Amino acid sequence: MRELICITCPMGCHLAVDTDERGEMKVTGNRCVRGEQYAREEIFNPKRVVTFTCAAVLPDGSVPGPESNLPRRVPVRTTIAFPKERIPELLGALRGMTIRLPAVRGSVVLKKALDTEVDVIVARSIASE
Ligand code: SF4
Repeated sequence: MRELICITCPMGCHLAVDTDERGEMKVTGNRCVRGEQYAREEIFNPKRVVTFTCAAVLPDGSVPGPESNLPRRVPVRTTIAFPKERIPELLGALRGMTIRLPAVRGSVVLKKALDTEVDVIVARSIASE
């Protein structure tokens, strides 16, 4: 028996996941069919939206100095949920990236990250001065 909270909608149903004598998964506690879909995905192929910050560089490639009001990091996020088991690999790739200012919200910084269908985009616009 495994317990999960469905995060598909604000109802937050408490799910109980069990397997019957034939080895088939049985989900209870869900108020709708999406809860069962959520439980299956969470158990067999868990995914999460990933947020991170990448190093910012000025248009000339230099790092914003201490006299500047500009942030040194640019927030980024995945466009959709990313396979959980590969998140450390994704963070490793993002850790080595720099983003040139100005950064525009929604612009793609890593397309089809790690050969998935998930893009990484800028989460918040930041001017360059
Ligand atoms: S099971 Fe349905 S009603 Fe309950 S939290 Fe999930 S989506 Fe919402």
